[in-house]
Amino acid sequence: MSKAFEKLQQIDKEIILLEHTSALLQWDQETGMPALAIEERSDQIALVQGIAHDRMTSPEVGELLGQARSEVGLESLEAETSYAGSGSGTNGGEAGDEAGGAEVSKGAALPPENDPRFFSSAFLRVFGRNYEREVKIPRRLVTELAQTTSRAQAAWIDARRADDFSLFQPHLEKIVALTLEKAEALGYPEQPYDALLDEFEPGMRTSQVEEVFADLKTELTPLVKRITESQRVDDSFRGRGYPAAGQREFSLNLLREMGYDFDRGRLDESAHPFTTSLGGNDVRVTTRFHEDDLFSAIFGTIHEGGHGLYELGIAPSYHGSSLGEGTSLGIHESQSRTWENLIGRSLPFWQHHFPGLKRIFPKQLEDIDAEDFGRAVNRVQPSLIRIEADEVTYSLHVILRFELELALVNRNLEVKDLPEAWNDLMEQLLGIRPPSDADGVLQDVHWSMGAIGYFPTYALGNLFGAQFFNRLQQDIPDVDKRIGGGDLLSIRKWQQEHLHRHGAVYTAPELLRRVTGESLNPRYFIDYLEQKFSRLNVL
Ligand code: ZN
Repeated sequence: MSKAFEKLQQIDKEIILLEHTSALLQWDQETGMPALAIEERSDQIALVQGIAHDRMTSPEVGELLGQARSEVGLESLEAETSYAGSGSGTNGGEAGDEAGGAEVSKGAALPPENDPRFFSSAFLRVFGRNYEREVKIPRRLVTELAQTTSRAQAAWIDARRADDFSLFQPHLEKIVALTLEKAEALGYPEQPYDALLDEFEPGMRTSQVEEVFADLKTELTPLVKRITESQRVDDSFRGRGYPAAGQREFSLNLLREMGYDFDRGRLDESAHPFTTSLGGNDVRVTTRFHEDDLFSAIFGTIHEGGHGLYELGIAPSYHGSSLGEGTSLGIHESQSRTWENLIGRSLPFWQHHFPGLKRIFPKQLEDIDAEDFGRAVNRVQPSLIRIEADEVTYSLHVILRFELELALVNRNLEVKDLPEAWNDLMEQLLGIRPPSDADGVLQDVHWSMGAIGYFPTYALGNLFGAQFFNRLQQDIPDVDKRIGGGDLLSIRKWQQEHLHRHGAVYTAPELLRRVTGESLNPRYFIDYLEQKFSRLNVL
């Protein structure tokens, strides 16, 4: 290794240490911090993040990166990456092998894993990408975005409480303007939204998402109708009063069964469940216990457990570096949603785990059996709130947000017209009209945080997950039987070998092609849903 490369690795390590320190402060804020500590805590987090930003954007880093790239023989990598994929994904038709994903990665292909240049190439690519994003955004814009979103979040809370969009409107107008400025500063291959999407889903193009979501919408809309017309299922038992202690016991059991390692993690309670990585051997998950809704903790825990397994499964040689984290939000969601839905809402899963749940809550579940439970957790019902949506309607909530934010970014929609546009689209996609903005356009925190370009990753996670799981079923043909017998570890082992251990080395489109042999294809998700609901005798 050259001197420049070693120096860069050292800087990277320090930045990761600072990021994990900031994550620890945030974890504490969400799980146990006294309320009045918030002012000081905000200052602490801002200070640590500011130091990390300065470290990353110092002129020294740019010079070292240039030197290290030429020493490893990667000077051409940057040009190839930005050139690759242009002109792809515009051919319409089936989203299959022709979509842009594969081309995006072609030009920047890494040497094979056993090549001595593999690690350095992967590291320089990921670190270089992060560096180039950060230096392109002027300091003034970073500060203005931070201040604007900080105020906007407070305004969003007020607006939501008062059910009054006008309180939030001027803040969102400013956020959209600054976000457009950010997109211009970053640059993009086809359209401004590409630059925003790239922050959360590196290597993915807007045109590719548009194409895939158009297919998804066409398939899902009639599917929701068919399911809801024939499904008769009673899930009212979920509200029969389940003391938190019992829910906690069952959550801990589930995580253990999934292979989550409590010597390298822990489970706590927070208002919104999340997973946070504080180091290669410290990946924590949270859940919430609602006594009047048994499903909330169970599926929150399994979901976050899926995120946790991903981070814990990353190869130890990547710990403490930019390669030691999940590669994209969509891939992260694919792992959490696979555990939550494809595994955790399957009948075999509950055939094995329901008796343990009934032992903890014998009275509440007196008249329920494993089959009843397995059916109830698959109830499909168009609803107003995304985070409470079922597996089938969920992606439609995401498509709605994607279409609206794309229209805002492309200046085809003004912020003042957003509530009306939201309600119209909701009616078109899900057949229901929100009675208030609090249950409509004001329900999510994301836009107030400036996270425009984030939403698509939720639905992409469903699609990636089903596509990966199809591959897993080919490799482990008796996977249903294994789930029914309580063997979840063979699934975990497969995921670790094919997905988790790679950390951030491959982009999502690359990983998809490596593992499944093709680029993003929504067919797998639709096929999975159709098979599942016909097995449940709903289709
Ligand atoms: Zn998640």
